[in-house]
Amino acid sequence: MTTSRPVVVVIEDEAPIRQVIRTGLASHGYEVHEADNGKLGLVEAATRKPDLVILDLGLPDMDGVEVVKQLRTWTSLPIIILSARTMEMDKIAALDAGADDYLTKPFSMGELLARLRVSLRHVARVSEDAGSVFELDGSGRKMRVDLAHRRVLLDNTEVHLTPIEYRLLAVLVKNAGKVVTHRQLLKYVWGPGHVDRPHYLRIYMGCLRAKLEADPARPRFLHTEIGVGYRLAAE
Ligand code: CA
Repeated sequence: MTTSRPVVVVIEDEAPIRQVIRTGLASHGYEVHEADNGKLGLVEAATRKPDLVILDLGLPDMDGVEVVKQLRTWTSLPIIILSARTMEMDKIAALDAGADDYLTKPFSMGELLARLRVSLRHVARVSEDAGSVFELDGSGRKMRVDLAHRRVLLDNTEVHLTPIEYRLLAVLVKNAGKVVTHRQLLKYVWGPGHVDRPHYLRIYMGCLRAKLEADPARPRFLHTEIGVGYRLAAE
């Protein structure tokens, strides 16, 4: 990302929602381009050189999941999907297909702006290749994850994690602030043959929380996205 205005392509067929997004983003310094269907959206995404795409899953001409798949054939730019509550399965399919994050309608402009900041900062961090140490302050408790040395510190005391616990945490750290689906976590941590074993995740996430959270029942670091996956707090 450069210092110039970030460019966002919004693919959404409902004009009132596009207008809200356009107004909100423009007033926060984003350059916004719009498309009201999937085909046009793919053209806009290919020609406007966007830093990020906001994509509604319920489009008139194409399945939003298909739009994600087509985008992912040529670009890794962040995709934030918008979904209605009735589109839970599509939302998960879109995340599995490579979308970075999602918002469920109705959402607030504050939420959307926060997700944009996380996604764009993540891109900046990855391109600088300086993200090997991750620090997080969870109401008084400081967690430090050093990916280069595979060390986890809690208030400057080293925490011993099993290899699986560490891999699980590392995947979440590399995607800090973004939701990672059950399927993605199972694939990254256990391998492609284990994507249908969500109980593994529940068990190991419980272990991680017991080691890292002050109150595992009210996690500050490791948040559950019900029915979708997990998200590590980004700030
Ligand atoms: Ca729609």
